[in-house]
Amino acid sequence: TPVIGVLALQGDVREHLTALATADAVARPVRRPEELAEVDGLVIPGGESTTMSKLAVLFGMLEPLRERVRAGMPVYGTCAGLIMLADKILDPRSGQETIGGIDMIVRRNAFGRQNESFEAAVAIGAIEGGPVEGVFIRAPWVESVGAEVSVLAEHGGHIVAVRQKNALATSFHPELTGDHRLHQYFADMVRSTL
Ligand code: GLN
Repeated sequence: TPVIGVLALQGDVREHLTALATADAVARPVRRPEELAEVDGLVIPGGESTTMSKLAVLFGMLEPLRERVRAGMPVYGTCAGLIMLADKILDPRSGQETIGGIDMIVRRNAFGRQNESFEAAVAIGAIEGGPVEGVFIRAPWVESVGAEVSVLAEHGGHIVAVRQKNALATSFHPELTGDHRLHQYFADMVRSTL
């Protein structure tokens, strides 16, 4: 059984822990480098990417996270987590760092403000059984990707789900719905490395 951490510096940690538990994984929060060292894969939740970035630096987690991702640990970022996995942010706040791992440029808050949040059915080629219900909350989109990146889904003509080797990312929050197929897909990615 894979042990999958959820980066618990900030954001909707509990919802991911619940979703992972239904995907035949042992799920636990990760705040410190020692905890990171003990997991087989990691989810980076939604929240606020600037705050998450600052807390990652403060908790001494940024470099350990970069090292694990570079070394091939499976990682899945949702919304702010997608931003954290981007090699480049189009409009970063000052001092905003990312873990990186996906050769892409992201635009923060691209789908509009908090009160323009919405739900949409997103067709994802890699996921069987019909579209996934995605919750978009001040969601980013992906402006462009490098040659190594697979685009898994688009919404309204914009890229909203990508994968590059061990790194998976979605603009939206599947953990806020009862549909946990993306968590299952990620848990399978982790299982394949064990
Ligand atoms: N707009 C937020 C950010 O820039 C992300 C929002 C979310 O994670 N729901 O980090």
